[in-house]
Amino acid sequence: MNKQLIFKKRPVGMPKSDTWSLETHPIPEPKEGEVVVQQHYISLDPAMRGWMNDAKSYIPPIQIGEVMRAGSVGKVVKTNNHPKFNEGDFVSGWGGVQQYAVTDGENWYKVDERIAPLPMYIGTLGMPGMTAYFGILQEGKIKAGDIVLVSGAAGAVGSLVGQIAKIKGCTVIGIAGGADKCKYIVDELGFDGAIDYKSENIATALKRECPKGIDVYFDNVGGEILDAALTKLRMNARVIICGAISQYNNRENVKGPKNYLSLLVNRASMKGMIVFDYANDYGKAAQEMGTWIASGKLKSKEDIYEGIENFPETFERLFTGAKLGKLVLKVIED
Ligand code: NAP
Repeated sequence: MNKQLIFKKRPVGMPKSDTWSLETHPIPEPKEGEVVVQQHYISLDPAMRGWMNDAKSYIPPIQIGEVMRAGSVGKVVKTNNHPKFNEGDFVSGWGGVQQYAVTDGENWYKVDERIAPLPMYIGTLGMPGMTAYFGILQEGKIKAGDIVLVSGAAGAVGSLVGQIAKIKGCTVIGIAGGADKCKYIVDELGFDGAIDYKSENIATALKRECPKGIDVYFDNVGGEILDAALTKLRMNARVIICGAISQYNNRENVKGPKNYLSLLVNRASMKGMIVFDYANDYGKAAQEMGTWIASGKLKSKEDIYEGIENFPETFERLFTGAKLGKLVLKVIED
């Protein structure tokens, strides 16, 4: 049998438990050319909140009655003449929040658990890792000596953005919620400084941590933090709009930046990015990230919770910050 989390009701504000229902259905037989994947881990991402809205975006919204969309990694347990995947292969793709996914394998790829633990394929070597890699290198165009500011700095994307910028010889300041996370990004990840947005005045803290201004601001949170960062831009600075988690549950109007004239004065740019645009180059990027991990230059942190029935409360952790690094849910039962 297959436990599935079905999307039941479009949330207003923070999703509650009645947004989904947990249902149990038989695992369908794979049709010709399909496989059954027993899912081990599900990726929990802030973007899931946007997919629940009935609004135009970079991918269509989830429809009521569908399995909740999610990235995942698991093992092929049955095939019906699939051209690429065999029983026993580990694969990653868009399996959704369910224990078994039946798929034709489109947009799924093989992973090797002897090279890296499975959760890493939906974190550092998966979508968040690719976002950090292409966001800071291709969009941020960093070079040695640049001063980089990143928000959501103890999260999946931000923690990698900061570390990649350090590898490339930048000075890196991170913004995170709480003293422990700030200590973590400096002591464990090697950031040069940290700002605790939950207890500090951002403008004052930016004066302390970025007295010379910033060349790149990698924005994961939007809102007031984006606005404050805009006041610190140096000449030709780049602002990368990766996400705006502080606004995703906003019932009213999204809070936009007031200080945008700083772009004009400093000949700076502000640009949005979507990781899927780089899909053709994921392989090369994952290889380089893997080399950095193997040599100890890059740390990958996954925060793993258990039980498909615990999806709603685990999802909330993205917004309360009650997690460190990449949030993952283990859905295979021992
Ligand atoms: P994450 O950072 O691992 O998790 C979200 C974190 O955001 C939380 O842990 C929390 O950390 C922080 N946060 C929550 N509410 C906040 C608020 N009101 N103000 C400031 N910080 C808040 O998530 P992620 O996967 O790395 O994603 C980070 C951002 O990148 C998200 O906005 C996501 O949508 C975006 N993203 C974009 C793309 C793309 O292609 N453009 C791809 C992947 C992700 P604290 O404890 O520090 O508050």
